[in-house]
Amino acid sequence: MTQPINLLGLTQTQLAEALATHGLPAFRAKQLFSWMYCHGARDFEQMTNLAKPVRQILAQHYTLARPDIAQHQQSVDGTQKWLLKLADGNLIEMVHIPEEDRGTLCISSQVGCTLTCRFCHTGTQKLVRNLTAAEIVGQVMLARDALGEWPSTKDERMLSNIVLMGMGEPLYNYENVAEALRLIMDGHGIAISKRKITLSTSGVVPMIARCGAELGVNLAISLHATNNELRSAIIPLNKKYPLEELLQACRTYPGLSNARRITFEYVMLKGVNDSDADARALVKLLSGIHAKVNLIPFNAWPGAPFECSTDERIETFSDIVNRAGYASPVRTPRGRDILAACGQLKSASLRPTAAQRAEIERVLREKEAVAQVL
Ligand code: SAH
Ligand code: SF4
Repeated sequence: MTQPINLLGLTQTQLAEALATHGLPAFRAKQLFSWMYCHGARDFEQMTNLAKPVRQILAQHYTLARPDIAQHQQSVDGTQKWLLKLADGNLIEMVHIPEEDRGTLCISSQVGCTLTCRFCHTGTQKLVRNLTAAEIVGQVMLARDALGEWPSTKDERMLSNIVLMGMGEPLYNYENVAEALRLIMDGHGIAISKRKITLSTSGVVPMIARCGAELGVNLAISLHATNNELRSAIIPLNKKYPLEELLQACRTYPGLSNARRITFEYVMLKGVNDSDADARALVKLLSGIHAKVNLIPFNAWPGAPFECSTDERIETFSDIVNRAGYASPVRTPRGRDILAACGQLKSASLRPTAAQRAEIERVLREKEAVAQVL
């Protein structure tokens, strides 16, 4: 018997094509779509408006499989982190950060990351592949299962916002990310609006305009430095797409206004990018852009070559940016005790081979060398 095919991640048109191979009419695809993405069905038997023989055909040929949960941890502050096992055995992480009456799900777009930002734990992970649309949308569905928030029409949800700030660079996996986001934003399905979704990029300039025009989600830019020399040293991608090009892409990002701004993320690295002069340079750089700044205290991870700036330094830096008219909240680190905070994600339980270990150590040594130069 052939392996059942997973329907998760398919659009209504693709579902209709699958059903047509069994002689089933297109309106069944609409029902199936609603069961899958609005009601979160995990079993065809739940689909009571489909005749029993139809349910049997579906169960025979298809599944509605989410990624498997390999590990689940909960922080003292309520943040939850899931280590997810994909069908090929690869591991990714996903984090839910609850607030009083809402909550944000931070999802991954790749296994590891092809880029090697010096301050980021994910960047030390050598194994890399793009996630499929099914694996991206599967994270959101799994979180909704865990939070008990089906159907999609339910109000007052703890999964109200989504950020693509987990493992990976989403704009290096644009097609699959876009396909997943269209499913997530579909009002007849998961129904999370583009206003509640933020995509964070380290600066893949050629994809920024397309992301804005086609998806219209909020954009966050991992800026972290205000001159090319430093930015290239800590974000090697900057050598390919320097600051001038990045900021130009931001200036022309569609749909910006005072009410809808680009978020510039700025990780606070002690003695590296946190001086008063850096704050003033940041303000100058952002002039003319509908921008807000998000200061992220550096989150340490084993072997990290940086330290976090002091609270006083972060406060002074924030004041300078604020006085210049830019909101610059400091992102409260959440879930640090379970390594769930920004930049700490890494599928650590994947035991590396001796060769991979040597490579990881080499990358870490290189990072230490960079830190000493800075
Ligand atoms: N690859 C994308 C999205 C994932 S990272 C990107 O780089 O934008 C989400 C945010 O966490 C980015 O702004 C990233 O620069 C930041 N980050 C990475 N490592 C960090 C660390 N150790 N401490 C704090 N923030 C970190
Ligand atoms: Fe990749 Fe983003 Fe980490 Fe850089 S900060 S290594 S782009 S995940």
